[in-house]
Amino acid sequence: MSDEPLDLVAEASDKPTREISPINALREELEAVRGRLRALIRQVGEPAMCQGCEANIYFVRHLNGRNAPYDADGVNHFATCPKAENFRRKRGPNHARP
Ligand SMILES: [Zn+2]
Repeated sequence: MSDEPLDLVAEASDKPTREISPINALREELEAVRGRLRALIRQVGEPAMCQGCEANIYFVRHLNGRNAPYDADGVNHFATCPKAENFRRKRGPNHARP
């Protein structure tokens, strides 16, 4: 593995520089990612309303065949729903997830 080292630093410094702090650049990037996530969720999800907290959500079918609820910003609704505990399956010690 003696390939030429990637010249990422030089490449990056060739870009036109704006007066923008790294943290603002990260915020812009994060906002762009969130926008793409919202667009993706709208494309693949089925609009619905959470039966627990009545939030607007999207159901997305995972590859394992299960539907999972997502917030419009792409976060799994189980992570944000104030009533998430109501939806958890009761699992015994022999039914723990792998
Ligand atoms: Zn909810």
